[in-house]
Amino acid sequence: MTGKQHIHCAIENCHYYSAGNKCTANEILVANDQFCNSQPDHVDAPMASQITPASAESCMSTACKSFVPKGSDKVTADGIKKMQ
Ligand code: SF4
Repeated sequence: MTGKQHIHCAIENCHYYSAGNKCTANEILVANDQFCNSQPDHVDAPMASQITPASAESCMSTACKSFVPKGSDKVTADGIKKMQ
């Protein structure tokens, strides 16, 4: 894969949210709601290659598994790093 990826996100209370609607996580995992609701916090982007892909019916049934609220004590639970 080539090129520099950037992710825009408008979830202002996420630990990785930055002004201008930018995501500063070094990697994220998007999955369907069923997966996100059933998996523990430590299952996230660093484990992506081990996760079985699944379908979603629409954007309404997808979610960012990497979301963690600002100030949460779980910001290190998944191994994702905040880029500066
Ligand atoms: S981790 Fe997910 S919810 Fe948080 S800023 Fe990035 S894309 Fe948005």
